[in-house]
Amino acid sequence: MRVVVIGAGVVGAAVAAGLTRRAADVTVLEARRPGAGTTTTSFAWINAGNKNPDSYYALNHAGVHAHHEFAGHGAPWFFPTGNLEWAVSDDDRSALARRIDKAHVRDYPVQQLTAEQAAALEPDLIGQPAGTEYAFFPTEAHTYPALLLARLLGEAKDGGATVISPAQVTAVENRAGTMSVETADSARYNADIVISCAGRWTGQVAELAGAYAPMLDPDLAGSATVGFLATTALVPTRLSRVITTPDLNVRPDGAGRLLLQTLDLDRLADPTAPPALESAIAKEMLGRLPRVLRSTEGAAIEKMQVGQRALPADGLTIAGFADTAARFYVVATHSGVTLAPLLADLVAAEVHGEEAALLGDFRPTRFADGTVRSAPSAARRPGEQ
Ligand SMILES: Cc1cc2nc3c(=O)[nH]c(=O)nc-3n(C[C@H](O)[C@H](O)[C@H](O)COP(=O)(O)OP(=O)(O)OC[C@H]3O[C@@H](n4cnc5c(N)ncnc54)[C@H](O)[C@@H]3O)c2cc1C
Repeated sequence: MRVVVIGAGVVGAAVAAGLTRRAADVTVLEARRPGAGTTTTSFAWINAGNKNPDSYYALNHAGVHAHHEFAGHGAPWFFPTGNLEWAVSDDDRSALARRIDKAHVRDYPVQQLTAEQAAALEPDLIGQPAGTEYAFFPTEAHTYPALLLARLLGEAKDGGATVISPAQVTAVENRAGTMSVETADSARYNADIVISCAGRWTGQVAELAGAYAPMLDPDLAGSATVGFLATTALVPTRLSRVITTPDLNVRPDGAGRLLLQTLDLDRLADPTAPPALESAIAKEMLGRLPRVLRSTEGAAIEKMQVGQRALPADGLTIAGFADTAARFYVVATHSGVTLAPLLADLVAAEVHGEEAALLGDFRPTRFADGTVRSAPSAARRPGEQ
């Protein structure tokens, strides 16, 4: 089977790898360079505990499991150290208690911890006010997305895939049963199946094929699609896992750096104006760090980014054929880092005619009548999407 994959982010790389496992003849066309999209501006926390509805939770739960399987015993891109979360205010404690109850109902691993147990996990934690609730999600993890991407793309190439960049797809046609893809340099690629893995550009690529896959505007300042990420210079503190707190999420980012996320400030994020290293936003993000981890006073920000999410219009994954001839398949999702190793196998199976039950609720055809049942809000708690 000849397959053209459009886009070499983590999702396209995973799909290409999954297809080569089934001996497909794969060409990946990437408009800029692999990883140039959302993949390299991601918090990259592998999680499912706060996903809804149940079918989206089930997909992400399987995604977490697939990461563990894919990494095996020790992989340089994968850190299976769990997520430690805490809640201080009455509202946040109630929300965390509801999540813990739901996790129990779903049989999703979670442990309630005392402050001493939390400190035993992370010795440099700053003590929080009396009454703080701690929860530990032991199966969750984080990854370095550039390394995960490299691993998946490397596997695809080892399996015979050709990766071409820059190669911006400008036309997708079904010519009497053969798919034909054209790129900006007028090159043409024929295939049995075309798979769009174009992330936040999915709407435009689907349109090229005459299909409909609505995405939220990734350029809209302050909306659910945009969010700040701050990378510190090296900091002499001990941290080995994702920590999510009421006003700061933080994880290790390699070589002593930390990656910071402040969901409540994301309403100020504007992708056309990423904040400077000395900006008020950068200072505010950094100023929250010493309230979470010891030995972080005086830390510096090395990089400020505004990430742009690939967010389907109802916040949920899109996966499935978007044309009646079943030749043009679309995959677009937030949580693409969590889902990539799982999507590798599920999408490859589907294009080989094996329907994946886990994807049943996420078909692009749900938008066929032009309605979007619910839109994600910008006010988010950790792991909500
Ligand atoms: C701030 C932030 C935090 C996040 N945190 C998490 C998290 O903690 N956990 C998690 O699981 N996920 C998280 N995500 C989401 C996750 O990063 C994305 O879902 C994932 O990276 C999407 O990957 P992708 O391959 O679909 O898209 P992309 O990486 O954007 O790749 C799409 C590729 O398609 C290419 N392309 C587009 N149009 C064309 C065309 N016409 N022709 C050829 N190529 C084309 C682009 O150049 C791009 O390289 C976060 C995202 C953001 C912004």
